[in-house]
Amino acid sequence: MKFLRQPLLCDECKKPIEEYAHGMIEWLEDGSAISEVRVVHNPAHSPTGRCYKHLYHAKRRELHLADILNNEALRKQLEITD
Ligand SMILES: [Zn+2]
Repeated sequence: MKFLRQPLLCDECKKPIEEYAHGMIEWLEDGSAISEVRVVHNPAHSPTGRCYKHLYHAKRRELHLADILNNEALRKQLEITD
């Protein structure tokens, strides 16, 4: 289960994601199996420039954090809550 309450820390660099608009969700999806759900910085707002872990993984999916907030179905699927 992932929580989106503040302070929201990046799963990679462990620094705060100041605004939802600065965050991304990345995960691996293999059929119906979802794993490695991570809340990370969008590269444009990343202190290190690279907070993605699975960038070149064939099963990788990503979505802007802001877009996931109102998507109840997807949040349930990814086990993301407030
Ligand atoms: Zn980060």
